[in-house]
Amino acid sequence: MHVLAMLDGTLADPEAAHIRVDDLGLLRGDGVFETILVVDGKPRELGPHLDRMARSAAMLELPEPDRAAWQRCVDVVLGAWQGGAEMALRLIYTRGPESGGPPTGFALGGPIRAKVLRNRESGVAAVTLDRGFHPDIVAAAPWLLLGAKSLSYAVNMAAMRYAEANGAQEAIFVGSDGSVLEGPTATVVIADGNTLRTTPPTSGILPGTTQAALFRAAEKAGWSTKVEPLRVADLRAADGLFMASSVRKITRVHTLDGAALADVPDLHAELNRLYESEY
Ligand code: PLP
Repeated sequence: MHVLAMLDGTLADPEAAHIRVDDLGLLRGDGVFETILVVDGKPRELGPHLDRMARSAAMLELPEPDRAAWQRCVDVVLGAWQGGAEMALRLIYTRGPESGGPPTGFALGGPIRAKVLRNRESGVAAVTLDRGFHPDIVAAAPWLLLGAKSLSYAVNMAAMRYAEANGAQEAIFVGSDGSVLEGPTATVVIADGNTLRTTPPTSGILPGTTQAALFRAAEKAGWSTKVEPLRVADLRAADGLFMASSVRKITRVHTLDGAALADVPDLHAELNRLYESEY
């Protein structure tokens, strides 16, 4: 069910070993990645994903990704895919072997996990979790790599497990000043009337390609959009709270920290329509 292409454009067996045991991506999570949604053979937001991978690579001081090689690698996976209408396409780019050598790069296509599909339909409960930093630290401490999509996602995965152990399917990180940040793998979006809001990348979050696509569509349809700091109280008071990411699309949050949120009729469907209208 998976399709693997190496960065040189060759197809490879996804069930065989290809990565050296001294690869720094494996040893230290020292690399970057992207996850792209492909629908009916067309990758969504490929340009913004490649731009963001280049930006993350620059933050980690990795060699600049070869855009043409990545485009070709993506095309090889798309051409070989025989799975369903939707694919999650991961691009992985690491610093390569510890002993030196070129970076490691590959693209891996696979199905969307059943849990993600279920959550798109049924919505999710979310818990707020302290991320442990003040947004002021972002500019002063570039080594924290806040806002880079690095392979060091163990903290993000631990937060998801913590949420699940506490009866939720999503986490929403909050800064030590109480400001809302993002989910471990998703952007926070709220809707109020005809306004969409999300939190600013200056607070150390990853700029989301799905949120950007939704906001683009919403503006064309006459909504207003704002990128500004949000508090947890804003999430509770909104007409709707959503988690946006490539594989989730726009997933509704129905419960926050154990309390049911407003359920404005047709709002989720309307946001889905807006997002889909971009493709
Ligand atoms: N924030 C984080 C930390 C993420 O890891 C992701 C994606 O995985 C997102 C936000 C959403 O980004 P996108 O919409 O580009 O998938």
